[in-house]
Amino acid sequence: MAGWHPATRIDFPAMRTIDTDILIFGGGVAGLWLLNRLRGSGYSAILLEQDKLGGHESLNANGIIHGGLKFGLAAMLRDIEDLDDMPALWRDCLAGRGDINLSGVKVLSEHQYLWSEAGLTARATTFFASRLLTGQVRAVEGAERPDALRHPAFEGKAYELADLVIDMPSLMQKLAQPQKSGIYKVSMQNCHLETDDRHNTTAVFITAAGMEPLRIKPRRVILAGGQGNHALLEDIGLREPEMERRTVHMVLLKRAGLPVLHAHCLGNSTKPRLTITSHPTRDGESVWYLGGELAEDGALRDERLQIEHAQRELKELLPWIDLKGARYKTLKIDRILPAGERGLFRPDNAFVETRGNNLVVWPCKLTLAPNLGRQVLKQFEKEGFLPEHPPQAEALPLLYPETGLPAWETLFN
Ligand SMILES: Cc1cc2nc3c(=O)[nH]c(=O)nc-3n(C[C@H](O)[C@H](O)[C@H](O)COP(=O)(O)OP(=O)(O)OC[C@H]3O[C@@H](n4cnc5c(N)ncnc54)[C@H](O)[C@@H]3O)c2cc1C
Repeated sequence: MAGWHPATRIDFPAMRTIDTDILIFGGGVAGLWLLNRLRGSGYSAILLEQDKLGGHESLNANGIIHGGLKFGLAAMLRDIEDLDDMPALWRDCLAGRGDINLSGVKVLSEHQYLWSEAGLTARATTFFASRLLTGQVRAVEGAERPDALRHPAFEGKAYELADLVIDMPSLMQKLAQPQKSGIYKVSMQNCHLETDDRHNTTAVFITAAGMEPLRIKPRRVILAGGQGNHALLEDIGLREPEMERRTVHMVLLKRAGLPVLHAHCLGNSTKPRLTITSHPTRDGESVWYLGGELAEDGALRDERLQIEHAQRELKELLPWIDLKGARYKTLKIDRILPAGERGLFRPDNAFVETRGNNLVVWPCKLTLAPNLGRQVLKQFEKEGFLPEHPPQAEALPLLYPETGLPAWETLFN
């Protein structure tokens, strides 16, 4: 992508111009959620995706809709509030009566569990005691525990959290499907932003060999490109808001007959020692997707060392699970967060900031997509930014992007 100032504007012959209220860059959960919310509120909106639809982080997320408890010990130590009741907002959407109709999206588990080793610290016990009273957590015993934690050798405690786990490919498909007419693939070398002195994006030009040049004139632009926001901001002539990349090194374990487990193991630190979610694959098998401290501390390990580390953790924490013949892969991936104070410890709101007529957004967590939608609409309402252009009906001469796949579908091929 390239940006230029009107002084250097190039005049294309036979320029077709499309007026739209909103142009969104990025087809991950942030962009697709906003496209649904904004079109649903009467705005005309177009979404451009440079690669595959479904996002980079989004498709590879565990899919846990956190209620804040993952940060249990951190929350207690730093005295932060839990997230808004995001699981409840999501449950409404999944039931077809929320901000967006997500009925039909596959729910992998109604609950994320949390287990501790036998020696849970007194502090954590106190923490759970207060949460148990408010109904956010329920201690589960015996047959109520997930299969993988029912073995006689299990000596710790297990809790059921209000969090649910959703299947990311089915979520992304559900968000994209009704909006197909407004989603286009655009290679970034064919896309040029025109900006003015005040960092307003006045037009976006799309040109490619054999194609009639296109000018999109948006009233507002939303940068929802995840890590791609950095380059988009540069095109607009901005260095901030800055973003931070936190590399995590996830481990994937594939084996037929793996028990379904969606759980965090609480260690002695403020983060989960291990997070496990289970993902069915299209070949009928299942993959355990391992994160938590294992992934955060493993960012510098190479694949072999990271797999060995994961195997040691599993042997220590779940020694009764038969993992003979399991195949392992790893995925190094960046989590994108706004730089500075905001971040994993203050995940109470999605990030939304305005520069000129551009809105820079990072949801910070998949969980916060509903909050992102609500913030953007509220901001437009506050500014008196109302729908002006009719919903864009005529198709643009651009292709619909291919839909991406998560790592558990591609890495084992
Ligand atoms: C391993 C992992 C596990 C996670 N698990 C969870 C979880 O369980 N629960 C939770 O709440 N959160 C989780 N998260 C965080 C969550 O996934 C992210 O906060 C969220 O998916 C970010 O969405 P996004 O749309 O901003 O970014 P992405 O999903 O990365 O999407 C950005 C999209 O923009 C496109 N793009 C970039 N630049 C341009 C451009 N110039 N023009 C057009 N398109 C562009 C990209 O190609 C991409 O498709 C996890 C993150 C990771 C990495």
